[in-house]
Amino acid sequence: MVNLKMFIDGEWKDAENQQTRLVYNPANGEIIAHAPEGTITDARAAIDAARKAFESGVWSGISAQERASYLLKIADKIDAYAEELTQLETMDNGKPLREAGFDVADAAACFRYYSGLITKPDGQTYHVADPMQAMVVREPVGVCGLIVPWNYPLLMSVWKIAPALAAGNTIVFKPSEVTPVTPKKLFEIFEEVGLPKGVANMVMGAGAVVGNEIASHPEVDMISFTGGTKTGKQIMKTAADTMKKVSLELGGKSPNIIFADADFETAVDYALFGIYAGSGQVCSAGSRILVEESLYDQFVARFVERARKIKVGPGNDPSTEMGPIVSAEHLEKILYYIELGKQEGATVACGGNRIVADGLEKGYFVEPTVFVNVEQKMRIVQEEIFGPVVVIQKFKDEEEAIKLANGTIYGLAGGVFTKDGAKGLRVIKKLRAGITWLNSYHPTYNEAPWGGYKQSGIGRSLGTFGLEEFQEIKQININLQVEPVGWFSN
Ligand code: NDP
Repeated sequence: MVNLKMFIDGEWKDAENQQTRLVYNPANGEIIAHAPEGTITDARAAIDAARKAFESGVWSGISAQERASYLLKIADKIDAYAEELTQLETMDNGKPLREAGFDVADAAACFRYYSGLITKPDGQTYHVADPMQAMVVREPVGVCGLIVPWNYPLLMSVWKIAPALAAGNTIVFKPSEVTPVTPKKLFEIFEEVGLPKGVANMVMGAGAVVGNEIASHPEVDMISFTGGTKTGKQIMKTAADTMKKVSLELGGKSPNIIFADADFETAVDYALFGIYAGSGQVCSAGSRILVEESLYDQFVARFVERARKIKVGPGNDPSTEMGPIVSAEHLEKILYYIELGKQEGATVACGGNRIVADGLEKGYFVEPTVFVNVEQKMRIVQEEIFGPVVVIQKFKDEEEAIKLANGTIYGLAGGVFTKDGAKGLRVIKKLRAGITWLNSYHPTYNEAPWGGYKQSGIGRSLGTFGLEEFQEIKQININLQVEPVGWFSN
């Protein structure tokens, strides 16, 4: 068990009132850490440090190449600590070691990507009438508040921190209180590479207290948030009072459309991966599978056969294919939705229960669950469950598939499986979603933008778009012939 601390102005700190909160291992319910229960005063201290560091120019004032060299050192350290970070991530979040290992490697790659991107040309000049020269430069936004959830404790942090720092901002970062362990290790790395004091600050504490202070404080110029849509809406409202720049990566209820002409085993395999990777606690999870009528029964039979075989267990068991749910509270939410589905009249084709046998009884495990006989208006079809629960729906033709696929408030991701490339692209172009796959599901890249349409968010993470979120754009007009304008009589 460890006693975590916050990182404010280059110092490791307890909460000013010494309060702490317990952090649990979701695989067995054991206490793994005490985390500071930060207060508004702590949040203000972090914001103050970030503001001073920003204004001093210690980070925004150095060259992009110098900042890039810090990011490269961070990436190297992440690689060097890969084994430890992987173990911590599995303990913190519950995900299998294999998944955690991917996240750690991706985190290092993300820092490397932004270390390269920030040194590339990024301005513009315009041919305007003589004697003027117009140009545009990109500048950091200032102090950025970064608030992340628990499903990818390390990777979600890095998706925000790497571009924010690359662009020259200073940050006030808040991990989810459910999973603060790996983020704390990341900040130890920042200290080891010698990031200047106050550039990267981490506060812990309740979202409604510390997170809300970050979203409302006038000295925070931008909020970048990943989490639930309800919280995202609250943050946007709060941030409006000080007109902060807002970037939101929120929930989803993403469709995975399987046409009868798809490669059958590939489609089943990716559909399983789409929903059960991360125990379904993935914003882009393919939680609604839409199958063409003529293939439906065969698809459901094979999907259920394979879902039943998924080996659920603790993340640190190398044979585990699906880990636990992140917390007791979230487990209750998922079980609530399973009961709700039954009450709504849907049929459980497999799963549907908490797993309490075989030494898993103290952890938060749920069976891979499939609902059939569902209707579009049901809440289990419309709402984000964020667990290993999928609904399998039927469609007649392309038009109906698109209508069902787009028929929720969300628009984060979507997949299409067909051997007809033209049809696949036609359907993808009609999907109101920001991330799509043809004959695949889930892979994403540091180079490509990540984010949603509709109520799945605003703005994009990753790629050039992800960097631009953390930049202001300044127009500069230079007079090459310095003489009075002569507009008014002399
Ligand atoms: P939240 O959206 O509540 O939490 C995400 C982060 O926001 C956490 O760091 C949280 O802090 C913080 N936060 C909470 N309230 C506020 C606030 N008022 N102001 C500022 N920050 C705040 O997610 P939950 O963990 O409660 O999960 C709820 C649902 O959200 C899930 O069931 C799932 O449907 C969805 N979700 C979606 C994710 C995605 O990637 N799209 C990720 C996680 C959840 P703290 O942890 O201290 O509460």
